[in-house]
Amino acid sequence: MNNIIPEFSIVIPVYNEQENIPELYKRLTEVMDKLCASRKLSADYYEIIMVDDGSTDDSWNIIKNLHHNDRRVKGINFSRNFGHHIAITAGLDYVKGRTVILMDGDLQDPPEEIPKLYERFQEGFDLVYGIRQKRNDSLFKILTSKLFWWILRKFSGVEMPKDQTMLRILSKRLVESVRQMRESARFVHGIMAWVGFNSTNVEIRHNPRNKGKSKYNLPKMFKLAFHAVTSFSAIPLKLASYLGFMSSFLSFMIGLYFLYKKLFLNIPVPGYASIIVSVFFVGGIQLLVLGIMGEYIGRTYHEVQHRPLYIIKESFFEE
Ligand code: UDP
Ligand code: MG
Repeated sequence: MNNIIPEFSIVIPVYNEQENIPELYKRLTEVMDKLCASRKLSADYYEIIMVDDGSTDDSWNIIKNLHHNDRRVKGINFSRNFGHHIAITAGLDYVKGRTVILMDGDLQDPPEEIPKLYERFQEGFDLVYGIRQKRNDSLFKILTSKLFWWILRKFSGVEMPKDQTMLRILSKRLVESVRQMRESARFVHGIMAWVGFNSTNVEIRHNPRNKGKSKYNLPKMFKLAFHAVTSFSAIPLKLASYLGFMSSFLSFMIGLYFLYKKLFLNIPVPGYASIIVSVFFVGGIQLLVLGIMGEYIGRTYHEVQHRPLYIIKESFFEE
């Protein structure tokens, strides 16, 4: 297998998924063996790259054992938790296959849907991703995800259909383009949309998480949303000019009104409440805008540091 270029590489980010990996391996290999057989390819014509994103449970040992029994399984172990989208990036950096399949490790997107995506992919697309027919998640997850996609589609300036799954098939040339993008604040759905090529989507089933809890907490979700928006758009920065313009216009009009009252009607202007309210209002806007600018500056700072995106503690690719 060493010298053979596999037809398929499957990349799976894994963070504390010890209960899911065995079932994932079983179902995925069944699907892939069948897919290879149907194309008259030998069953070792694919590789599975599991990227352990600094798990604290037994995930890495399980991956190691899988590799021990089945050399098609390869593994990368990070020195700490770097995040879902970075783990995917590492996997893409090491794939050898001509066709790359990406999927999460929690079986929410069933591997049994891969042949459906692949059928479409063979029509000549560079990217085929799943769209969830019906999201099988908690109400909180559904609402926050809705908000996330809404903000993204509104502010990112990149055409991105909502409810995309991570389960997707990519061509080698698309993967090579994605590899060239080394920004540390990563949002891979956006990067894949940004590079272009021909993409399409297919509706697929979405299951509840197989075992365990979501590995995304609220701060992680906010971070991703912010990375996603700031990666593709500077619209939030323009908010400053809009708000500045609006509040100056408003205060000018109110000023005129008070002047008129004082000069022509001789009504004294009672001031305290209105002054306090407007001071807080303007102060709030200033802080908001400063905060947004700070986020962009922080992002610029991180990018110019040019640190590696991830640190690998251990990996096995061949014997
Ligand atoms: N994941 C990861 N690093 C993280 C968080 C998650 O590699 O810091 C992996 C996780 O193991 C899973 C995938 O990314 O395979 C998606 O995570 P999860 O299912 O928790 O996200 P959700 O489906 O709830 O959005
Ligand atoms: Mg999940």
